[in-house]
Amino acid sequence: MKTIQVSDEVYDFLKSCQEELNTQDNRSTSNPIFGFEVEKEGASYDPQEYVFINKDHTDRITNTEEEDWEQELATYIIDSYDNPEELTKDLYDIEEDCHWTLYREIDDENIDSKEAWAVTIKNEITDYIKGLDYYEYESFFEEFNIRVYGYEKIWVPYYKSFSIFESDMQSHIDLNKHNMDKYRTYVFSTFRTPKMNKLKDIIKDEIVFICNCPVPEFPVGFTNRKNNDKIYCVKCNLIIKIG
Ligand SMILES: [Zn+2]
Repeated sequence: MKTIQVSDEVYDFLKSCQEELNTQDNRSTSNPIFGFEVEKEGASYDPQEYVFINKDHTDRITNTEEEDWEQELATYIIDSYDNPEELTKDLYDIEEDCHWTLYREIDDENIDSKEAWAVTIKNEITDYIKGLDYYEYESFFEEFNIRVYGYEKIWVPYYKSFSIFESDMQSHIDLNKHNMDKYRTYVFSTFRTPKMNKLKDIIKDEIVFICNCPVPEFPVGFTNRKNNDKIYCVKCNLIIKIG
């Protein structure tokens, strides 16, 4: 048995690490390493949701998880036209049977009617979008240079941070939560990483902290040391070195 010298600070740190490794919830995982999974949008053959993006892929307009996504798209479509007449014409080209509100005698001197028209046509487009089936999205929105992609929500490992200490996860959240997507903690396993596993075992089980009390307090009933049993000091809970 050899003794190593460490500073008080390192001593306290190693002791707290040992305690944590022996008390944390390993969630039934051998050689656990704690990390996160984050929720991402994954391409899907059977999409649950759709996202709408401008044709240059520079602007994500909305997605079907947003409240009022139909209204967002209607606003985007209206805003992309300088001229209400052109929008009305395009709407008729797309859907002749739909009773779109016609542009009537609206000019800059008649702001009230122009605004009223914008509200009306926005409501109509919103209702029209609400009535579309998902397989109609692509053909309708491409008329307005809007791309549609289906996706599903998937949980993927978060690659920025792992630790053998569960408490490090909270530290990471405290410092980095604002940069993370929706997350959940996840227990991975250090599989076939012998040095790391050995180092963890050493901290967890093999480093022995010896009672340093001026007068160690022996457990009740202790008379003599037998069979190399470890005797723990009642005051500090550390091993009493005899002899
Ligand atoms: Zn002690």
